[in-house]
Amino acid sequence: PTTTRTGEPAEIDPDEMDPDALKVVLRLHQHGHQAYLVGGCVRDLLLGKKPKDFDVATSAHPGEVRAIFRNCRLIGRRFRLAHVYFKGGKIVEVSTFRANPTELEPAAGAEEGQSGEDLLITHDNVFGTAQQDARRRDFTINGLFYDASEGRVIDYVRGRRDLDERFIRTIGDPEIRMREDPVRILRAVRFAAKLDLDIESRTYAAMEGAVEDLPRCAPARLLEETFRLIRGGVSAPALKLLAALDALKILLPPVDAYLRENGKEGEKTFYAFAQALDKRVSAGEVLDDAILLAALLVPISRAQPPVEESQDEGRASVSRVIEDLLAGFVESARLPRRIAERCRMLLLMQRTLSGERRRKTGAFRRHPLFNEALAVYAMTVEATGEGREALEAWQAGEVPPPRAGAAGGADAE
Ligand code: ATP
Ligand code: MG
Repeated sequence: PTTTRTGEPAEIDPDEMDPDALKVVLRLHQHGHQAYLVGGCVRDLLLGKKPKDFDVATSAHPGEVRAIFRNCRLIGRRFRLAHVYFKGGKIVEVSTFRANPTELEPAAGAEEGQSGEDLLITHDNVFGTAQQDARRRDFTINGLFYDASEGRVIDYVRGRRDLDERFIRTIGDPEIRMREDPVRILRAVRFAAKLDLDIESRTYAAMEGAVEDLPRCAPARLLEETFRLIRGGVSAPALKLLAALDALKILLPPVDAYLRENGKEGEKTFYAFAQALDKRVSAGEVLDDAILLAALLVPISRAQPPVEESQDEGRASVSRVIEDLLAGFVESARLPRRIAERCRMLLLMQRTLSGERRRKTGAFRRHPLFNEALAVYAMTVEATGEGREALEAWQAGEVPPPRAGAAGGADAE
């Protein structure tokens, strides 16, 4: 295959590359295969940021990779790739060059029961060349290869230009690329928010058009990409972008409903919570998914009357809306039940922390989620500017004075 490589002068210091990832690349070279560092790590190093992980793309097939590395396991069914393990739990992901099946043969998606116009990628395991592998990736900034032997960036997709001009642009026709995998909407939003890049206008228009296809994506992928936004410490700008795209009604229906019902005030409140959360995450605090989700749901939970406990047969409950929301998440988005239950508990405990509801405080303090609940409460205080005395009292190991009109309650948790 003709590969007109547009090599650029090295702008990546090899010392910044992960030594284990470099070892993997060089080993593959020694066995006669092509191998490059690829994707997020190349992008981040060119932006002067520290990459999270280092991925390798190679001409070697999964079985060949497996045979070269002893510390290696093949994973994945939809597309098999290799994980090479190093000290300290580090994993270098090695994937074989693949082509975009819809680009290869337009009829590939038109299996039985699928119309020819159906672009959704349902299988994605056709091996290809390095150039095809660059072109099947989502955005130009994610399609760059780094040749570690020659110390240069290989750019088949004009990713350098877009990085310099700070644009997120799909590789190829944005309409097709967004329709064939609408999860890319969330990815574009994440990179825009996280890296502070603009979304190129045709790419943005295609995102708007593909929002209606989001429900066709695998729920687990949608959930994972949604959590990646929140874990990345950019929930406020990312959710604003998703609201503008009218995607929240699909991804986070209760957040969508809350924003619609509460107008400008609701918006202010919700994004103040999101910002309080982002501040903590950006400061390096590692919060589990239940805490992240709870922090975003507190404003919605607070806006709802709690379910009468007598109605609920001793099972202390947050509002019906939150119960339904979490149940809905478990069902449609496959949110792990364990996370939903932790989140429900954290939201419920907020009422005691704020003094809205009285508890036997000794038992409450010994609750296994007490510290997590307090972390969520601290974000509420940060977001609303209210309740600082109660927070300080809890933190000091004291019991805050009851709030006017506080309801008594059994120690149900
Ligand atoms: P991060 O630093 O947040 O991990 P990343 O770019 O490494 O960002 P990953 O989700 O780890 O993102 O994916 C690795 C690479 O795989 C991407 O850079 C991109 O080239 C490709 N990729 C991932 N998801 C898709 C997708 N849905 N469609 C096309 N290419 C994708
Ligand atoms: Mg990555």
